Amino acid sequence: MMNEQRDAEVPLEGGSPFELRVGLSKNVSESFVKQALETGDVGFLHSFTTGSAVDGPGIRLVAWTAGCQFRCLYCHNPDTWNMMNGMAVPLERATSLLSKYGHGLKVMSGGLTLSGGEPLMQDRFVVKLMTATKAMGIHTALDTNGYLGERLSDDELEQIDLVLLDIKSWDPERHKYVTGKDVGPTLDFARRLSQRKRAIWLRYVLVPDLTDDEDGINQLAAFAAGLGNVERVDVLPFHQMGKPKWEKLGIEYALSDVSPPARELVERVCEQFRTQGLKTY
Ligand code: SF4
Repeated sequence: MMNEQRDAEVPLEGGSPFELRVGLSKNVSESFVKQALETGDVGFLHSFTTGSAVDGPGIRLVAWTAGCQFRCLYCHNPDTWNMMNGMAVPLERATSLLSKYGHGLKVMSGGLTLSGGEPLMQDRFVVKLMTATKAMGIHTALDTNGYLGERLSDDELEQIDLVLLDIKSWDPERHKYVTGKDVGPTLDFARRLSQRKRAIWLRYVLVPDLTDDEDGINQLAAFAAGLGNVERVDVLPFHQMGKPKWEKLGIEYALSDVSPPARELVERVCEQFRTQGLKTY
């Protein structure tokens, strides 16, 4: 029954995550969504994109999930906030796409990355897709804000080779201001990944006058270094590529006049992480 409700008209592969996609599951029933979330047999996805070199090691196939509980002021994919904007994709449709690219991903030392949105809004689908991917011998990465990390059991964490953990701010008040949510669960998930010896690439979006607080970054860098499992830190300079989406969706965008960080600021922040012995990119 679930397959009947998928939107077969929408191509699974998008040109880019910057493509605006809305309302693709607006006609699915509440019971269908509930069943999909409970079983993980169907995921709600913005799109798949191929050829990414920045979302994990090697060349990646990236599945962009729909649904996020954060409301980051700098989000460049606000159309992925609402799960119903994504298309309903049965697990077997996703795995057949993986089979198509599996050989190439292995040759290019890459794999599958689940990003979003926030993938763990659909934790059962994440686990099923990651498990199927690992069974094909393909590397798995999860790009997450970490807030719902407790939804994954220790065994399920073993299906994820790498966590791209987005920490939005060290300071609790600033984190809440930037995202609308507390930072505590994300830091707890980072500690748990450390205890379980699961690799982390830490991601930090750098926005001038919003997330560039020197003291906070020093504390975050010390925390990350102390975990012992952070393989690298990606300092991601804020950009305005998501601005058209905010405008088209009619959401008030607080950062419309903010410029990308100057090279000197990016270098200062990278150096703060390097001082703690971490590798930055
Ligand atoms: S966690 Fe990611 S998808 Fe969610 S609001 Fe923040 S930037 Fe956007």
